[in-house]
Amino acid sequence: MFDIPFNRPHFTAVERSIQAVLKSGHTAGGGPASRACEAWAQQHFGCARALLTHSCTAALEMCAILTEVGPGDEVIMPSYTFVSTANAFALRGATIRLADSLPTHPNVDVDSIAALITSNTRAIVVVHYAGVACDMERIAALARAHGIWLIEDAAQALGAWHGNRRLGSIGHLATVSFHETKNIGCGEGGMLLVNDPNFVERAEIVHQKGTNRNAFARREAAFYTWVDIGSSFVPSDITAAILRAQLDTLDYVTAKRRALCDLYRVCLTPLAADGVFAIPINPPYSHDNGHIFYLVCFDLAQRERLIAALASARIQAVFHYVPLHESPFFRSHGTSPMLPNAERFGRQLLRLPLFYSLDPSDVERICHVVAGHAWVRPQHDSIAVHA
Ligand SMILES: *Cc1c(COP(=O)(O)O)cnc(C)c1O
Repeated sequence: MFDIPFNRPHFTAVERSIQAVLKSGHTAGGGPASRACEAWAQQHFGCARALLTHSCTAALEMCAILTEVGPGDEVIMPSYTFVSTANAFALRGATIRLADSLPTHPNVDVDSIAALITSNTRAIVVVHYAGVACDMERIAALARAHGIWLIEDAAQALGAWHGNRRLGSIGHLATVSFHETKNIGCGEGGMLLVNDPNFVERAEIVHQKGTNRNAFARREAAFYTWVDIGSSFVPSDITAAILRAQLDTLDYVTAKRRALCDLYRVCLTPLAADGVFAIPINPPYSHDNGHIFYLVCFDLAQRERLIAALASARIQAVFHYVPLHESPFFRSHGTSPMLPNAERFGRQLLRLPLFYSLDPSDVERICHVVAGHAWVRPQHDSIAVHA
């Protein structure tokens, strides 16, 4: 239907990887391919332990179990995020407190977090939207001052940096996604990054269905048995083998995506300079991974017009989150705050196609369609003021 889809996953060496696993006979989780992915991540992030999961959602659920949040506890996170960020903690019975985005960026506003901290706050979960770093120095200082856990939902942030630190290496815990829509993927997949070594032992147990399987395998325990709560968070070694091959593509995939974002910027800067829409403004401490290129439209009508015009040209553009405080589920659990910045990104943010095999000429074609349909209707009230 679309000549240029919104996303097209990039894969390398998939068949060879699957064949190797089938030949080895170890297809369940925790085999050589899973261990290789975890070793890669421990090296890449310098974390105390990396645990491969079947999704970032699963890794977030592990964070909620490990931080032992429960009824009466409050967890602060941005409203402008995917449901999994919140669901993981809602599943443990915690109260979700939603913070606003910055005026200039979908990332969370630190002042909005600070205003929500109470004696019941147990954790702050940040989301690095589009692989752009949140203000981690200020947020980490807040978490430290209040003695609360800091968790990074780095689902979109593999290969991105805050200053000289990799996103995912800053919080006590962090999570990554390998869903097909992310820069590097294996269909469905994720990772828990344990930066605080105090969580390592329990993280291994929760990961292995609440058993001491790892300790038993290392001959540190005489029996293999139930020792804590947990669940099946591990992916098959077939999935892990596919992922292991993709991890080697990280540098060149990231470089290509960043170059495509730069080209979008060059093509769209004149219209942004005329105030027809806005293009991303990233903070100076962020070195992003080219995960998303978006426009902030003038209004909802402009966004709908651009999506329709692009679809007519067989190009797929998509909006993003309905802020969680405007969701039916959150609303059914009490009154929602007013979060004007998150609401604006909810109505006005438009994502343009971005994937490894996208050709620079495609970006030019997309920008041409955008330029032809981005006009803004004259403002009637400004005419009235001058009359
Ligand atoms: C994609 C995404 C998730 C969920 O990742 P899965 O691997 O699909 O579970 C969670 N949080 C954010 C911010 C995401 O972008």
